[in-house]
Amino acid sequence: MTSNQNTTVCVTGASGFIAAHLVKQLLEQGYKVRATVRGTADKYPYLTELEGASERLEFVQADLLQEGAYDQVVQGCDYVMHTASPYIVNVKDSQKELVDPAVNGTLNVLKACQKTDSVKRVVLTSSLAAITDEPRNDKTFSEKDWNEKSNLKRNPYFYSKVQAEKAAWDYVEKNKDQCDFDLVTINPFMVIGPSLGPTLNESNKVIRDLMHGLYPVLMTLNWGIVDVRDVAHSHILAMQTESASGRYLIVNENWKMREMVSFLKNDLGCTDYKLPKIDLDSPFGTKIMHLLSYTQPSGNGTYMRSHIGQQMNFDNAKAINELGIKYISIKESVEAAVEDMLKWGHLKPRKANKMATA
Ligand code: NAP
Repeated sequence: MTSNQNTTVCVTGASGFIAAHLVKQLLEQGYKVRATVRGTADKYPYLTELEGASERLEFVQADLLQEGAYDQVVQGCDYVMHTASPYIVNVKDSQKELVDPAVNGTLNVLKACQKTDSVKRVVLTSSLAAITDEPRNDKTFSEKDWNEKSNLKRNPYFYSKVQAEKAAWDYVEKNKDQCDFDLVTINPFMVIGPSLGPTLNESNKVIRDLMHGLYPVLMTLNWGIVDVRDVAHSHILAMQTESASGRYLIVNENWKMREMVSFLKNDLGCTDYKLPKIDLDSPFGTKIMHLLSYTQPSGNGTYMRSHIGQQMNFDNAKAINELGIKYISIKESVEAAVEDMLKWGHLKPRKANKMATA
């Protein structure tokens, strides 16, 4: 056991894809973890059964929308990792379902931290969504960029993340004389990899949808990708690195849809799935896909219009240089995501065990 057993870290939204790995890694490093969830502890065996959980993991129920819900929770905690936020692409009421919980939840957590003098740092899980919703061939994105284009209709999930991060920075700036803590944000791109819990995350779902034929065509689409274990680790590094400050882009590599499909088919041997066959990865295909985007549910449609035809270029040096993060290869992440989705039954079972070594 290390001296970390005297340090308590609050993780909000501990049931989530990223947060569950964060709880696991914190317990592995000997920390005490106060996990906020919406259900009762028996709903989360993948957390209660983690090594060290019986001695050092406690659950508290809290909802982002309930004012004051975090006041008691963060009392006595040394650090707060605020990961809870709705991650849903297709919604009916963007303000109610996305923006209100993201923004008000973040402010509730920060206000709670201000009411205690125990919290030294809040690490907020922000997103690429707060950096941009529009990759561009002629631009390299970094921590300096802010997404100014999303709104309640255009990429509303992105809008909720940019509003929440802005609200957080505004709050700490306005209250800097009364806050004993500082704020660091982690801005991951598309997060994939193994899930500790049974729920299929929106980002792994992209790979599942590719394999189940929901993308019948190859498009000029690409993703900046990062492994969920690295995202969790980056939160811990941001907590442990005293000099850490500001925002950190967390992303390893950019993969084109063409590369993803080729890897699934040729390296992982996923030939018995409905991977896209029709090739519209061309300027002409991009025009067709823009038109077809209007036939999609609104969340998917706006995403397609702002992303197809452009390359996501980024500068991820800050997290590498300042936090010392080392990334798991994307090939390893995709393979782990596929194995994991098979394990949880999110992917149709394979006809034969054709999984090759990548
Ligand atoms: P997730 O698995 O859907 O986790 C979201 C978490 O937020 C869940 O624990 C959920 O609790 C909680 N939550 C949602 N609404 C809540 C509410 N009203 N009150 C309390 N808790 C609430 O998603 P994730 O991918 O791990 O995302 C975690 C964070 O990372 C989010 O802030 C997301 O925006 C950010 N992020 C994700 C990605 C990605 O590709 N996955 C990329 C960049 C940033 P329940 O289990 O009770 O629903």
